Amino acid sequence: MKFSLRTRLTAWYSMIVMVTLTALGVIAYFAVSNELNQNLDVSLVRVASSLDRIIQKKQVETQKPLKPAPLRKKKTRKGKLVPDSTKRDSFAFFRQNDALNSDSLTEASDSSQEEDQNPVWSAVYEHILLNSKNYFIQIADLNNQVVYRSENLQPDSLPLFQNLDAETNDSKKFVPYTLHSQQLRLYVGKTKFAQISIGYTVEEIRETLNSLFSYLLIAFPIVVIFSTLGGWFLAKVSLQPVDDITRSAQEITAHNLSRRLPMPLANDEIARLTATLNQMIERLEASFIQIRQFTADASHELRTPLAILMGELEVALRSPKSAEQYRNIMVSAQEEVSRLSQVVRNLLELSKAESGQVKIDMVRLSVSNLIIDICEDIELLAEEKNQKLEMIIEPDIMILGDKNRLHQAFLNIVENAVKYTPERGSILVRLLRESGYAVLRVSDTGIGIPEGDLPHIFDRFYRVDKARSQDVQGNGLGLAIVKWIIEAHHGTISVESIVGKGTIFTVRFKEELM
Ligand code: ATP
Ligand code: MG
Repeated sequence: MKFSLRTRLTAWYSMIVMVTLTALGVIAYFAVSNELNQNLDVSLVRVASSLDRIIQKKQVETQKPLKPAPLRKKKTRKGKLVPDSTKRDSFAFFRQNDALNSDSLTEASDSSQEEDQNPVWSAVYEHILLNSKNYFIQIADLNNQVVYRSENLQPDSLPLFQNLDAETNDSKKFVPYTLHSQQLRLYVGKTKFAQISIGYTVEEIRETLNSLFSYLLIAFPIVVIFSTLGGWFLAKVSLQPVDDITRSAQEITAHNLSRRLPMPLANDEIARLTATLNQMIERLEASFIQIRQFTADASHELRTPLAILMGELEVALRSPKSAEQYRNIMVSAQEEVSRLSQVVRNLLELSKAESGQVKIDMVRLSVSNLIIDICEDIELLAEEKNQKLEMIIEPDIMILGDKNRLHQAFLNIVENAVKYTPERGSILVRLLRESGYAVLRVSDTGIGIPEGDLPHIFDRFYRVDKARSQDVQGNGLGLAIVKWIIEAHHGTISVESIVGKGTIFTVRFKEELM
């Protein structure tokens, strides 16, 4: 199934938009996800290292090993110590529960210990209080005894890792961890004084990513719909001139080839296409006119001898004639028939030449000898008209060409000079070398050609003012053939003429040296 260019353009455009959007969405999603995860990791490490710094500082000050964090206690009526849950800060300090061993429990209740460790834990509490985020924090001593857990962890604890080594690169790791059915990102770092674990829920990141995904999901079809509509509109606007050209071109037929396509205002691709089409129509028009002219000329040229022939035959048939009269009629008819066949032969040759059917055999030949032969042939004609035929011919000028064709062309030119020069006129044929060219000049003292006719004398059937050369036989095909032959040999022909004074034809060919 074939779709219109407009549909295809729109489809391509939408597809490109969709692919780009999808790629952009995927990149944005992963970039944001990556950035959020990295930020989370950075903040986990930051919290851990702040805690580590505090612990380290206080440890150096107190010079005591890390002990479990104390509980804040109040006395019961019976004088028993119980944890004071009301006084705990929001992170609820560590209780000696199942995660701790009984030693630390006893130690924790020891008031002197409490005092020793207080500076550490107070500093830690303070730090945590200042931190607004809900981190899960667990601190273990170097013997992997948990000494502190934030309240939000209770009653669970975070996993401890035995194989971490503060001295090497294996001092920390990030692991996913599930706590109270919450997914956590967990950072565990071992320092000189403790194993610090910081967890934070990944739910926030997940939610952010989910809402980003929903926005993308909503934006995607909207953008695609708008870009498809835009593409459709753009395709319509840019293809409109093509539609206009198509419509105008459909109206141009063989009968109104003089019409042209309307040129668009902008100088763009469409304007160039229109100009090219207009040039093509112009060439078509020119060849149509030429063909029409040719048909008219050809039928006119053929009609005259045919009419004469017809007339002569009618005269012959009208009444009985003597043998002598019949003979005269036959001779005249033969002349007309030979003229007709000459015209037909020439026409056939020209049309063959134009359709590229004539083969030219190029050989190296002496143009000097060729001209001498032609002049010898034509001498008889010139003598009949008492004309002086003069030759100045440089010997051994060689060119590449087809001998028969060149003979035909040069003969035509010299023959014209004789034909269109009155009795006792003179004709000069010169063949010279001129800077790498063989130059033939045929000049006569004939009737000349008016300036207005000069551009047309190489056209088929063109004869200057038939009345003035009434007595001169010809069909106006000679120079058309000459021009074709010379051009087929990559040569040039030009003509200068003054009416009543004479004409000079100049032909140039590249000389073939060696
Ligand atoms: P054809 O050569 O077909 O027998 P033609 O001689 O009339 O007929 P062309 O050779 O094509 O035709 O010449 C075209 C016209 O150019 C001639 O009819 C003539 O008017 C003019 N012409 C050509 N050569 C000369 C010349 N040397 N002097 C004056 N007019 C010339
Ligand atoms: Mg001629």
